[in-house]
Amino acid sequence: MTKDGTRIEVFANTGSVKDALAAIENGAEGSGLLRTEFLFLDRQTPPDEDEQARQYQAIADALQGRPLIVRTLDVGGDKAAPYLPIPAEENPALGLRGVRVSLWRPHLLKTQLRAILRVVPPKGAKGGQCKIMVPMIGSLDELRAVRAVLEEAKRELGITDHVELGVMIETPAAAVTADLIAAEADFLSIGTNDLTQYVLAMDRGNPELAARIDALHPAVLRMISQTCQGAKVHGRWVGVCGGLASDVAATPILLGLGVTELSTTAAIAPEVKARVRDLDLAACQKLAAQALAQTSPQAVRGLVQAFGA
Ligand code: PEP
Ligand code: MG
Repeated sequence: MTKDGTRIEVFANTGSVKDALAAIENGAEGSGLLRTEFLFLDRQTPPDEDEQARQYQAIADALQGRPLIVRTLDVGGDKAAPYLPIPAEENPALGLRGVRVSLWRPHLLKTQLRAILRVVPPKGAKGGQCKIMVPMIGSLDELRAVRAVLEEAKRELGITDHVELGVMIETPAAAVTADLIAAEADFLSIGTNDLTQYVLAMDRGNPELAARIDALHPAVLRMISQTCQGAKVHGRWVGVCGGLASDVAATPILLGLGVTELSTTAAIAPEVKARVRDLDLAACQKLAAQALAQTSPQAVRGLVQAFGA
């Protein structure tokens, strides 16, 4: 809770059972992003439904019933697998990746969704433990296509309960049409690593650009602001699961823009929780409005320092 009593969820990102245990040890309330790529890379054939269900269950069990947001497979031209013969691309970051791969090979998506749906929460827990989130969404049509596969998987498994399906906001297209996407997405989680790369047109892996690729750039903050405004129209919550969630300098700005969930690296979760407890939402909103009017990330960081980060 912030000082004025606003509830903020602090989750941790995971990619293994070990990460899930670290999340709990560090006081995270669950996992706001399970990267599932670990199951799919460095092998000749994709994991079948049973193998995936076992692995997701093990991670859910390690979280002891806490919420788990499972991201559907996010591979692409630069992280190719032999069973996914993605043709060589000149710009893999702009090519077949994320949800584009899932819709290109829907049988893989269906298998993954069935495996996630099979995860059972501990006895006595209310509802399902897993929510599902889709990476690299660029338009509502993609979400609709994924939901159609999800509904088919639910029918096959005899599941009638609502299963939350959210989107990652990682492209400028998704950020500026968040109001349209939020009409049908159960939640929005901002992937600031990719969003920053696409907004600033800077390769996130380029060491020459590393010093300049700062998610506190006002252009990125404006995209986050627009996302929160779009989500609000439909009463959806917005989280951040990219690296910016783990940057305590950003915490007051994100809260001020309307973000209510932060999924951090496990080790930083205690610090982020402490920071949240120290903040007043009205002051954060004022700071956020000022941040949007700065001309550089440096200026934004200066503002935060003066605010008392
Ligand atoms: C992101 O892009 O911010 C994100 C969380 O996804 P990944 O880092 O796995 O691309
Ligand atoms: Mg990403």
